[in-house]
Amino acid sequence: MRYQFCPKCGGKLEFFSKQNINQPKCIDCGFTFYQNPIVGVAAILIKNKKILLGKRNISYKNKWCVPCGYVEYDEDVREATKREFLEETGLQIKLNRVYDVHSNFHNPIQHTVGIWFLAEITGGQLKANDDLSEVDYFSYDRLPELAFTTDRFVLDRLATEKLI
Ligand SMILES: [Zn+2]
Repeated sequence: MRYQFCPKCGGKLEFFSKQNINQPKCIDCGFTFYQNPIVGVAAILIKNKKILLGKRNISYKNKWCVPCGYVEYDEDVREATKREFLEETGLQIKLNRVYDVHSNFHNPIQHTVGIWFLAEITGGQLKANDDLSEVDYFSYDRLPELAFTTDRFVLDRLATEKLI
């Protein structure tokens, strides 16, 4: 059980069957607390066959990732990607197509679905910010230690398709 109490009334959450372990129900108000993955977004920025990565300074500290973040509850998925990228790298981007989508199970208490977009710079100045302590471009044969398995899948695919 990831949560014990009802977010609406504070009542106790219980399971009513084994099939419903992701849908506990409040014994007081009857609210069903659906527990679904949250959406993570990342933008792939490539320059001279090198990809921009960020060095993390909070969770997975000192490991590197494709700049990423979470979609806010009331936010458009593409707006979220641009906002997160700007916050972390100082760069404004425009998004092209969705490049890849994966389920991320690396955090046992929060399953996320990650979406990687291909992006192009439209403005700004490259500078690590927010959750990142460094940002730099890397070629595929000189990648630093990565934080997430799914970034590795995406980088392998970019290399196979000769994009990096
Ligand atoms: Zn309740």
